[in-house]
Amino acid sequence: MKKALAKSDEIHFTQRIGWLRAAVLGANDGIVSTASLIVGVAAADAPRSGVLIAGMAGLVAGAMSMAAGEYVSVSSQADTERADLERERLELAAEPELEHAELASIYERRGLERASAEEVARQLMAHDALSAHARDELGLTETHSARPIQAAVASAGSFAAGAALPLGATFLAPAAMVVPLVAGASLLLLALLGGLAAQAGGANALRGATRVAFWGALAMALTAGVGRVFGIAAN
Ligand SMILES: [Zn+2]
Repeated sequence: MKKALAKSDEIHFTQRIGWLRAAVLGANDGIVSTASLIVGVAAADAPRSGVLIAGMAGLVAGAMSMAAGEYVSVSSQADTERADLERERLELAAEPELEHAELASIYERRGLERASAEEVARQLMAHDALSAHARDELGLTETHSARPIQAAVASAGSFAAGAALPLGATFLAPAAMVVPLVAGASLLLLALLGGLAAQAGGANALRGATRVAFWGALAMALTAGVGRVFGIAAN
C-alpha cells in the first residue's frame, strides 16, 4: 500500500515537469512570434494602431495554430494507443498462452527468474490481462492516455500569455520607442523563462537563458530587417 502511494507521487511529479515544460515552450513561442511581428510592422513605420492590430491578430492566429497542432498531434497519438490496445485485446482473446509467455519473458528480461516471471505474469493476467499487457508490453499507463482538448487549451493559453507581453509593451510604449522597448522587454522575459526552464530541468540556467535569447534576437532582427525593406519599398 505504501509502495503504491510513493509510485503515484512519482508519476505526478514527472507529469508536472512535462506540463511546466510545455507551458514554457508555448509562452516562448508567443513572445518570439508576436514580438517579431510587432517589431517587423513597427520597423515599416506603420502607425501604432496598425502595429497593435498586427500584434493582436498574431496572438489569436498563433494561439489557434498551437491549439490545432496540439489537438491533431495528441488525437493521432490517442488513435495509435487505441489501435494498439484493440490489437492487444484480440491477441489476448485468440492466443492467451502465447500472450502469457510473452509477458513472462518481459519480466524475465527485467530480472525475474523464469519461474517467478511466469507466476507474476499469471497473477497479473488473472487480475487484469489487458492492463498488464498495456503497461508492461506497450508501455501505456493511464497517465499517458492522451487528452487532446486539454492539450489544445493549454498550449493556446500559454502562447497567448507569452504574446500578451510584447502586445502590452506596444500599447504602453511611446510611439518612437516601440521597437526598442518591445525587443528589450521580450528578450529579458525570454532569457528569464529560458533560465528558469533550464534550472527546473537540472541544466545550466545561464546557457538556457542565452540560447533562448539568441534565437529570439535573431527572429526579431530578421523581421525588423524585412519590415524595414518592405516599408521603404511601400512608402
Ligand atoms: Zn501482449
